Amino acid sequence: MRERTGFVQKQYNQYSQHLEELFGCKVYKITLNAGFNCPNRDGTISSGGCIFCEEGGSFSRAHCNTLSVQQQVETGIEKLKSRFKAQKFISYFQAYSNTYAPVDKLEKIYDKSLLHKDIIGLSIGTRPDCVNKEKINLISNYASSHYVWIEYGLQTIHNKTLNFINRGHNCQDFLYAVNITKNKGINICAHVIIGLPGETREDILETAKALADLGINGVKIHLLCVLKNTKLEKMYLNNEFQLLTPEEYIETVCDFLELLPPEITIHRLAGNGLKQILVAPNWLCEKFKLLNAIDQELEKRNSFQGLKYIK
Ligand code: SF4
Repeated sequence: MRERTGFVQKQYNQYSQHLEELFGCKVYKITLNAGFNCPNRDGTISSGGCIFCEEGGSFSRAHCNTLSVQQQVETGIEKLKSRFKAQKFISYFQAYSNTYAPVDKLEKIYDKSLLHKDIIGLSIGTRPDCVNKEKINLISNYASSHYVWIEYGLQTIHNKTLNFINRGHNCQDFLYAVNITKNKGINICAHVIIGLPGETREDILETAKALADLGINGVKIHLLCVLKNTKLEKMYLNNEFQLLTPEEYIETVCDFLELLPPEITIHRLAGNGLKQILVAPNWLCEKFKLLNAIDQELEKRNSFQGLKYIK
């Protein structure tokens, strides 16, 4: 790994380090559940949701929504301050689709999450088909006082796969969302999943190539994992698809990073599989080992993010 003043520089543009450089200290995300739903779960688009979606809708069960948003923020800050002496925080709306409500309701909820003086940013996770110009204008207003991100769940650019995983939106929805979000002071992050059923390594790398020139600011990479009580679990138990091996994942992630422009921040290189509900792969439980192996693979290749990026 390359050395840089005060940091051990990764071979990729690590988001946490980017934040540290920007704000002069480590910045922590407070994950929030504001009680939103998802149109792909409530029957508006389809019933049942994405085939990999568990009950919590991509949300850590460590947090429940019995507390108000403001209380969740305060509790989260207190915990992080006493545990890590943390100073700065981002309110992160993670559960379900956090723009899935009328604009006036969204405004009230987002406002509540920003009341604490140590909150310096707002990050909103949502589906690309759950935004419109009005909602983007609202979110854009926060950019004058806060560091703002919107995180779009894309997963793959291939409509065939999006269809298969019952995503309920297509790649064009994502492109439209990016288009209306760009140049509004909002940073854009795309979530992708590596290892989706039916996708070859070439398919996965086509997603990287497509993202490279969109002018987005961040990418969050997830490993496909099978969670309890999901449609994916049934398919997995019926041997309908194969999960990637650790070696395949590590190599594909490195290939993916090589294709992204160096300025894109990398928010994650694998999700946090919740042990209590994780069916497979087991090796995701050793996440540090996995992240180290990705570092080592990049070192071995003498490679880095952007090495094969062609504008
Ligand atoms: S969009 Fe998110 S919350 Fe909705 S069904 Fe898919 S994974 Fe679940």
